[in-house]
Amino acid sequence: MNDYIIPLCYVAAGGLFIVGLKGITQPKTARRGLRAAEAGMLLAVVGTLLHKEIVDFKWIILAFVVGSTIGALMAVFVPMTAMPQRIALSHAFGALAAGLVGTAEYYNHQPEIGAFTMTAITLEVLLGFLTFTGSLMAFGKLHEILPGRPQVYRGQNVVNLGTLALAVAAGVWLITDPSKTFLFPVVAVLAAAFGVMLIVPIGGADMPTVISLLNSYAGLSSVAMGFALDNKALIIAGALDGSAGLLLSIIMCRAMNRSFTNVLFGAFGQADTSAAAGGVIEERPVRSATTEEAAMLLETARSVIIVPGYGLAVAQAQHRIRELADALTRNGAEVRFAIHPVAGRMPGHMNVLLAEADVPYDQILDMDEINADFAQTDIALVVGANDVTNPAARTNKDSPIYGMPILDVESARTVMVVKRGMKAGFAGVENELYYQDKTLMIFGDAKKVAEGLVHDLEATVSA
Ligand code: NDP
Repeated sequence: MNDYIIPLCYVAAGGLFIVGLKGITQPKTARRGLRAAEAGMLLAVVGTLLHKEIVDFKWIILAFVVGSTIGALMAVFVPMTAMPQRIALSHAFGALAAGLVGTAEYYNHQPEIGAFTMTAITLEVLLGFLTFTGSLMAFGKLHEILPGRPQVYRGQNVVNLGTLALAVAAGVWLITDPSKTFLFPVVAVLAAAFGVMLIVPIGGADMPTVISLLNSYAGLSSVAMGFALDNKALIIAGALDGSAGLLLSIIMCRAMNRSFTNVLFGAFGQADTSAAAGGVIEERPVRSATTEEAAMLLETARSVIIVPGYGLAVAQAQHRIRELADALTRNGAEVRFAIHPVAGRMPGHMNVLLAEADVPYDQILDMDEINADFAQTDIALVVGANDVTNPAARTNKDSPIYGMPILDVESARTVMVVKRGMKAGFAGVENELYYQDKTLMIFGDAKKVAEGLVHDLEATVSA
């Protein structure tokens, strides 16, 4: 009986994973997509638990309780701004699991392992341990436990690639002769060491892209595990994970106008880390306004485009900004939100925050959809965004963000920028937008400023 039910569970799970991935491409269908993927995972787990090879459920239940408790606590308590490092941790544990399953398979069955299965196990262990240590390093850099600055030295690429080559050579030897048990720990240790070495020269600034790349390695490791265990659900899920992670890294690189090699070997952020770390760039006069003054201008505006950025996430200002958008709409203005593909610190960061605040989906537009409209807009209200609005990306060939597509806020009739001071954004570069005549700086925490704007706008309207 189970011989029919298990493959059925796996095929249904694979289908639900695909439906889930399709769903999360649109904010409107994202929740439904996630539910489908969750149902798929439940089916995959149920199918796996029906295997007759399972003789004792004691350890499985214990692991289930411990894992679920940790997962639930993380889901509740990890703030949105720490999501990239939380994802890095998930990849680390997923990859560790793959590496350990491969280890168990090898020691349980060696030396009678066929070349195909041994190849799958070797790949699984190589990618699993590499991704485990690489993801832990990425977590450390993002959480600022480790220095975010790229650590580089002469000949580093030779040492790194040499280590990988040694790990692969030991793996190939093991595939040809699985009885050479001393080679197995060599492969695992060299892979783990390479994971650390791969991340050390990459700056904290590039960690979100790297995490996405590591995600695809973890996916490939699961594919190999699926072949080693002859588990179709793992093959399907791993392939989806691997390709989705790779595609996401490519999209992120494109949105930042960077190449893969530049991310992996470019040591981005090295020249300007003091600014990136939050240093004030330069003392130059800017036009600043109080929330009262800004509210008077907003009251007369017929069209407003709100540009959210990382600062909005830090301040958790999404609900207050939605209230501001509602107040402006009540006052007769057309209000829309412009989303840059890399605004915030992870893909979809702003969409998730705005969805959480119940901003209607039809008010949220991608950069390509809305960029041409800035020129006909009364006010572009930039809330905690910096790099994604920086005209240097178009004009300054020496800028590290040169070539990155940006939101065309400077075309709006008036630009208002909400931020706490004159500190740089993620890329650590100065933003000329702030010094333009049409720009008004409203200094303060995004949430407090938004509260002030709602209050002062309502007071102005009712006066
Ligand atoms: P930025 O990091 O460029 O700027 C954020 C701004 O928010 C800062 O200048 C800061 O200025 C301000 N800020 C911080 N805290 C607050 C607060 N509490 N209230 C108000 N303002 C605040 O953000 P962007 O979203 O514009 O750009 C994202 C950057 O991240 C890009 O460089 C992108 O390449 C990079 N990136 C994004 C990824 C993604 O997937 N989304 C992945 C990898 C990198 P101040 O301190 O003066 O307040």
